[in-house]
Amino acid sequence: MSARPLEGRSTAAQLRTEARERADRIADRTGHRPRLAIVHLGADEAAAVYLRSVSRAAERSGLEPVVVSPAPELATVTDRIAALNRDAQIAGIVVTQPLPGHLDPRAVVARIDPAKDVDGATAVNAGHLARSEPSPVPATALAVMRLLEAHELPVAGRRAVVVGRSSVIGRPVALLLLAADATVTVCHSRTRELAAETRRAELLVVAAGSAGLITEEMVAPGTVVVDCGINPTANGVVGDVAREVAGVAAALSPVPGGVGPLTAMMLVSQTLDAAERQLDTLDT
Ligand code: NDP
Repeated sequence: MSARPLEGRSTAAQLRTEARERADRIADRTGHRPRLAIVHLGADEAAAVYLRSVSRAAERSGLEPVVVSPAPELATVTDRIAALNRDAQIAGIVVTQPLPGHLDPRAVVARIDPAKDVDGATAVNAGHLARSEPSPVPATALAVMRLLEAHELPVAGRRAVVVGRSSVIGRPVALLLLAADATVTVCHSRTRELAAETRRAELLVVAAGSAGLITEEMVAPGTVVVDCGINPTANGVVGDVAREVAGVAAALSPVPGGVGPLTAMMLVSQTLDAAERQLDTLDT
């Protein structure tokens, strides 16, 4: 058996078309394209890759990306984010990570107005997610849910196992699965007998950042597997799930080309949500 590939590129293309229509409608009313501010500090390569990917997705979706690169000192960064919060033409704000080592990402992200926090990074929006209240959520976690939906894979009632508990992916994806009525187990580096946990999964979401961590013996036949891992190797980028898992799983998202292409589109879509909410506020 070979797992059905849960590819994300065609859904991303479809979402881009929808996004352009929404962006055009907003531009017709406001006279400018919805603006997504990307706060980019320092010279980290992963942050630069993210910057390029988000800018490109925003441009192709009819948004105007605005790259902001203040001097990487907390006071300067705080002032710039405060100015972006006040700027009515900025719909959303995202900070590329990792930040330079001397800056605490929580202190930086905390300055973003939760209404413009289109990557669901603030504590306020994390709180809304924990309480299943509507709010922007971390883009990769939302991309996992969108990928499952695009491939018409049911979540309600399924035994879901998430490997990873970061605030960027593992934790929010576990909460989104729970909100969608899955029965959720969260695993991490201190989990005893990881394989026993993953073998129980009907739906397995892996976000550990460890190339090939999940091997075929760790997956029960018929499982749906979503791989969020992005691990650069000498042979290119690979996921957290070993390729052989395709021999046992019912469905498996490829890396690259699975969750990745949808992540930037989730940021775009949540920026459009924010822009539309801002227009609704002006109307009332
Ligand atoms: P973090 O390093 O912040 O978190 C990794 C999580 O995995 C931690 O909770 C850690 O446990 C757990 N973990 C690590 N090793 C093991 C192990 N051997 N067994 C069980 N659990 C383990 O990573 P992120 O959540 O930020 O990212 C995860 C992956 O997703 C990375 O490859 C990253 O590059 C990728 N990524 C993909 C995106 C996309 O768009 N597809 C976007 C962002 C990231 P503990 O908490 O105990 O340390």
